Amino acid sequence: MNTPSPARDLPFLSNPDKDNFIDGRWRAPESGKRIDTFNPSNGQLLATLARGDKADVEAAVAAARRAFTGPWSRFSPAQRQQLIIRFADLFAQHFDELTLLESLDMGAPLHTRLRPSKNGAIQTILYFAGQARNIQGDTIPNSLPGDVTTMTFKAPVGVVGGIIPWNGPLLGQMHILGPVLATGCTAVLKPAEDASLSVLRTAELLMEAGLPPGVVNVVTGLGAEAGAALAAHPDVNRIAFTGSTATGREIIKASAGNMKRLQLELGGKSPDIVFADADLDQAVPGVAMGVYSNSGQICFAGTRVFVQRSIQDEFVERFAAYGKTLKVGDPLAQDTRLGPLISSRQLDRVLSFVEVAEKEGARLASGGARLGGDLSCGFYIEPTVFSGVTNSMTIAQEEIFGPVASIIAFDTLDEALTLANATPYGLASGVWTSNVNTALKMVHGIQAGTVWVNCYGLVDPSVGFGGYKESGYGWKGGQTQIDGYLYQKAAYLNVS
Ligand code: ADP
Repeated sequence: MNTPSPARDLPFLSNPDKDNFIDGRWRAPESGKRIDTFNPSNGQLLATLARGDKADVEAAVAAARRAFTGPWSRFSPAQRQQLIIRFADLFAQHFDELTLLESLDMGAPLHTRLRPSKNGAIQTILYFAGQARNIQGDTIPNSLPGDVTTMTFKAPVGVVGGIIPWNGPLLGQMHILGPVLATGCTAVLKPAEDASLSVLRTAELLMEAGLPPGVVNVVTGLGAEAGAALAAHPDVNRIAFTGSTATGREIIKASAGNMKRLQLELGGKSPDIVFADADLDQAVPGVAMGVYSNSGQICFAGTRVFVQRSIQDEFVERFAAYGKTLKVGDPLAQDTRLGPLISSRQLDRVLSFVEVAEKEGARLASGGARLGGDLSCGFYIEPTVFSGVTNSMTIAQEEIFGPVASIIAFDTLDEALTLANATPYGLASGVWTSNVNTALKMVHGIQAGTVWVNCYGLVDPSVGFGGYKESGYGWKGGQTQIDGYLYQKAAYLNVS
């Protein structure tokens, strides 16, 4: 296989100044202002983006509204399904280009991408192609006097604002595009300022697939400007947001004006619990990759690793040794398993957690340093593991968004459950055991939207994903997500 070459393989970057995508065409930001976006593997300028603000959001929402009431409303479910399938085919044809663009933009190692037939972004959009023809109301027998027929209808909610984080924009956008296109809604997407390029390129592919102009628009820019304008816009009916819990709170406030429907997938500090009877050959790499995948920049990263005390020493030793086998480096290199963090700001933040952990008395078992040498221009840090952590330490409570695992010892199942649930978050969790009773007790007892048993991080779009507590609300995937993009209407027909 050829080593990917941005100059050869990414004609999209031959013009590195990117505008907003509104009403089917590129539009310069009204203010004329731009922001720079950098390649985190070498700190070099990659492109400039439109610094969209209220005026651009205004234009994009107006285009989305026109498309919603115009040509798009006349697409039948079968036509919407065909369009989604055409788009999925185009996405698969351009898969190498899109994943290369995303890697350059946010640093995910190319080699860890699954091929199109297994890739989560493609599987997600294909799932929603099926859902396009599965939207139905009910006829419901009633107990009313007279001869009254009662039925329910479903109708798309309208314009959806999709606010996307930087840690996996290709997949992140599909969780919004899927239900939007399946239900007949329209969208204005606001990708993250650090990683917008693959979302902009996807908008071109949507046009190529035959989507009418205005159905999907993209406004780039800062969260506090473009994002906040979208969350507050009175003609946006729903916001789909993935990001931090703090920003989620801002979105709840901003959206109160017109009572937008909300889907919020927020932060996490997920427990991954290893019992003494677990198969450690499976658990050590499983737990490690639950923390280190995407360099720890995953909302459901299993960073609080609870280990039963009798196997603690062996587990820490094997976990640290496994971390050392993971090559950190250029995301485009074949043998790289961990790429850089997204930005120097994020690197500083992660390093400051390492410092605080040591001050608070956690033992650094491995890693903890910024990587220098050839990598010194990028934002690289070693896979890191602390042992002797207690649940009240800062590293066990705050979402770090970096490759930092905290190992916390426990004695009994009840203690593990109490500790696992002692967090304001409830996004995901893992359990490693060979005892089915232990597994089931944990599945029932853990307060989190997902419990993985003897595995970590599997997500199927038909099953879906969502949070308990301050990890947000609204389910991604499955029929539940589709329902969130639909109004339900009851009709009473008096035929007596
Ligand atoms: P992070 O701090 O990791 O970047 P955020 O939750 O701030 O996570 O960002 C996720 C997405 O939310 C990004 O697209 C960002 O631009 C956007 N965003 C940030 N602040 C706001 C806000 N106040 N209103 C709407 N969107 C925002």
